[in-house]
Formats: sequence, structure tokens, C-alpha cells
Amino acid sequence: MISESAHALLSASGSHKWLHCTPSARLEATLPEAQSDYADEGRLAHEIGELKLRKAFIEPIGTRTYNSRLKKLQEKPLYQDEMLRHTDTYMDYISKVVHGFSSPPYIAIEKKLDYGTYAPEGFGTGDCIIIGGNTLRICDLKYGKGVPVSADMNPQMMLYALGALSEYAILYAIEKIVMTIIQPRLDSISECELSTADLLSWGESIKPVAQKAYEGLGEFVPGDYCQFCRAKATCRARAEANLKLTDEFCFMKPPLISNEEVGQILERAQNLAKWAKNLEEYALNEILAGSVVPGWKAVAGRSNRQFADVDQAFKILTSTGMDEAMLYKRQPITLTETEKLVGPAKFKVLLDAFVIKPPGKPALAPLSDKRDAYTRITAEEAFGNINNSNENGGLENE
Ligand code: SF4
Repeated sequence: MISESAHALLSASGSHKWLHCTPSARLEATLPEAQSDYADEGRLAHEIGELKLRKAFIEPIGTRTYNSRLKKLQEKPLYQDEMLRHTDTYMDYISKVVHGFSSPPYIAIEKKLDYGTYAPEGFGTGDCIIIGGNTLRICDLKYGKGVPVSADMNPQMMLYALGALSEYAILYAIEKIVMTIIQPRLDSISECELSTADLLSWGESIKPVAQKAYEGLGEFVPGDYCQFCRAKATCRARAEANLKLTDEFCFMKPPLISNEEVGQILERAQNLAKWAKNLEEYALNEILAGSVVPGWKAVAGRSNRQFADVDQAFKILTSTGMDEAMLYKRQPITLTETEKLVGPAKFKVLLDAFVIKPPGKPALAPLSDKRDAYTRITAEEAFGNINNSNENGGLENE
């Protein structure tokens, strides 16, 4: 994770927001940061990744020390075995890059980077920086699997690359920048290459916007990035943009709307759905904290009946003569669980030939989605009559 441990107001990770919605950074600073297990889980995976990289490239610690440090991390409550495999993917990528240089490159891990020349007081920490030949590579491990993140002209990565350039340009003749985002849980490695000149010119172009954001000036401009904003539930600009939906479409001429209107409404409805979810979470937290949200209350969620002690319950049944075999189902573990059980290398050798990946059912997605569009031929090959399969087709977000 490229992170800002002591947060910069103009954080690189928040740049999608403040580059478009300049007053957002100051507004967010007035709101508490939400705690999430996902963020903590990501931090733990990063610590494991960092330990592996340090052992391999920075400090050649012995196996005992390494194992004891790893064990400490494994004792943390959010640790999962799959973190070892996913951080191996990260480690493998970095090793490949490092060994791709003709002579050993410079490597820095968890390096504090200052991009304050371009965005006032901007700083953060880069996961891994590698400099060799005329190239600076900056790599970011993203442990999340909710939203795929592309490195392509990614402002977060570019701000960190600017910070790295400010630090190292005096020592190395850097002409090329390669930014990589490794998202192992989505099987995704995204790279973007650009010249130092292009990066610097982008840095110059954002200076006035960053200054505006630093001062909290400009218009609130809602966009996709709102879902990552601390004000996402209660921001007035977002509320007004979402509520405009009814104004715009209530004047549509009856009786039927066109496909063009369907496309527009779907796009807006997706934003509405995300916003409604944010509002629900916000209202529940407010009520649980003792505030009043008129018209709403907190209730216990639905739950299913369950045995307090399943062994005892079944013991009673078997004592009545019931065959124990009738009380248990035998079912295979999943492919992922099997791979975890036997290890990826052995799995590949023994079982790769048995693995198939059928095409997914047709689902609706916005044009910006990176996957290839389903053609009617592809759909018919996969499903026969496409009309029959539409019953189960769903709407997919990007
Ligand atoms: S919710 Fe969206 S529009 Fe509102 S401040 Fe945050 S980024 Fe800007």
C-alpha cells in the first residue's frame, strides 16, 4: 500500500477526489475517519510483504529471525493463510523486476516521499521503489479485492512518482517512469510507463488545482470517487446531484422511454444505489450513537435458528436409533480451498488439467468496463438461447 501514515491533507490516495472536487480535502478533514477491518487487513498484508522484501533485498536476516517476525504477524487477529500466497505474488513481481536489470538496481522499501512541490504539504510512503539504468519503478501492493485499480495515469501513483523523482533525480539520470499496481486477490498487475518529461509536465498542470484544494476553494463536484469520501453520506452536493434524477426524468414524454434514456437512468440509478447504501450506514451509526434520525430506528437484524450445541442435539437423535450418517452431508471442498490445502505448485502439477473456467453469464456493465463486450455469437456459444439465460443475468458495476 502506498500510504500516508500521518495523513497529508492532500493525500495521494485521495487525489482522485481533490483533483476533481477541490473543497473535498478540507471538508474531509473535519470528519472522523471510518475504521474498517479491510483497511487493517490490508495493513497486515503489507507488513508481511514488507518483511519478505526486506529479507530478500535489504537486510539478509537469518531464517530464525525471519520466522519469528513472521510468526508475530501471523498471531494478529486478522491474519489469514492466503496472505502468504498473495504477498508471494507481490514478492515474485518485485524479484522479476529487480533481476531484469543488467546490474543490481537501487531498492527502497516503505520510503517516505515528499511531493510538496506539486501539492502543498503532500507526502506519503511508497511500498517499493526500484531505480536502475535510466528507469524509476514505483510499485504499489493493493490488498483489496473490491474495486480493480488501474495504474494507467493513476494520480496517486503519479504523485508518488513525483515525490520519488524529487528525491532521486539528483543522484540518477531518470528518463523513464514505470508505475505498477499489484492486486493479487484480483489476479491483476497493472503497469503504466511514461517519460520523466511527461510526468513533470503533469505535475506542473496540477499545481493550481492542488493549491485550490489546499485552500478549500472551488466547487463540490460529485463523481465516482465520492464512494471513498468521508462525506459520502451527508455531502449536500452529492445529495443534490442524486436527487436531480427525479427532476430530469419526470418530464419525459410518455408512454415509453427510449433506450438512450434507459442508459442514462441506469447510470444515475447506480449512483443512487451507492448513495442510499452510504446513507443507511450513516443513519444506523448515528442512531446507535444516540442521535435521532426522524422516521428511522435501529432493530435487531434477521437471524436463523441454530443449535446451541449441535453435537449434543445429534447425540439425542442417535440415541433414539437414528443413523448418524443421515445427519451429515459429504461435500467436496472448493477449488480455492483445494489449492490452499495442497499448495499452488503441487496443485498446478497434479490438477491443472482438471481446471476449467466457463464463461460467466451475460451481465450488464458500463462501457467503461475493461472486459471485452459479449457478442451475440459468444453468448449463444456459451448459453444456447441467450433469451433463456437473461433471467439470471445481473447488473455488474465496474
Ligand atoms: S462526497 Fe463527493 S462531492 Fe461531496 S465532498 Fe466528497 S468527493 Fe466532493
